[in-house]
Amino acid sequence: MSTISVQGIGMTSRRTRERLISRLAQSGIKDQRVLDVMREMPRHLFVDEALSHRAYEDTALPIGYNQTISQPYIVAKMTEALLDGGELQRVLEIGTGSGYQTAVLALLVKRIFSVERILPLQEKGRSLISKLGMHNVQFKHADGGFGWPEKGPFDGIICAAAPEQIPPELFEQLAIGGRLIIPVGGATQQLRLVVRQSETEYIQSVLEGVKFVPMLSGSIR
Ligand code: SAH
Repeated sequence: MSTISVQGIGMTSRRTRERLISRLAQSGIKDQRVLDVMREMPRHLFVDEALSHRAYEDTALPIGYNQTISQPYIVAKMTEALLDGGELQRVLEIGTGSGYQTAVLALLVKRIFSVERILPLQEKGRSLISKLGMHNVQFKHADGGFGWPEKGPFDGIICAAAPEQIPPELFEQLAIGGRLIIPVGGATQQLRLVVRQSETEYIQSVLEGVKFVPMLSGSIR
């Protein structure tokens, strides 16, 4: 696991972060690697300064453009589900947003490919991740509903926005043995885990009920 090089990591008290980690553990997160990385991750840098005092609450917060930084519990749950299959080499993330989930993954996975449809969010996330000293992430400004075919197949795909149905491209770009974690639905949504068993066989299971922003098509500047 690599480490974070950033000034200001000590800016919020250890106790505030520890409280969040205890809460995640109480909510059922068991993977120690995930808890350790989230304990170190400076989430306050991923939100506006005006909201930074709330950065270690277990809640989603606005990041502009009608989008939110994901709730820490959800980031932990999705990361845990992704890592459950063993070591991951190549992971596709759809919906970079603030870059918080990207940064958590960057410390746990060899290479990340992150796609975001809103350019200013992508640029902000990219610059912060580079400032944090993480160099194993490639970014793309595009509609992630098509995946990132040139970079696949992926042994993990994680999606931060909910489509009504899983786009076929995401099934196709999953390596055999690969895992896709994705919220699916509209007013009611389910977080699903899809594991590709063979060329043609996929096993789907429901992890829990969730509320994500919708997956939208096209990209905007
Ligand atoms: N994990 C991120 C979540 C951001 S919210 C965080 O913690 O900050 C979900 C993100 O998905 C938004 O930034 C939204 O713009 C993006 N998104 C929605 N539909 C998309 C699509 N089709 N392709 C790429 N990104 C998309």
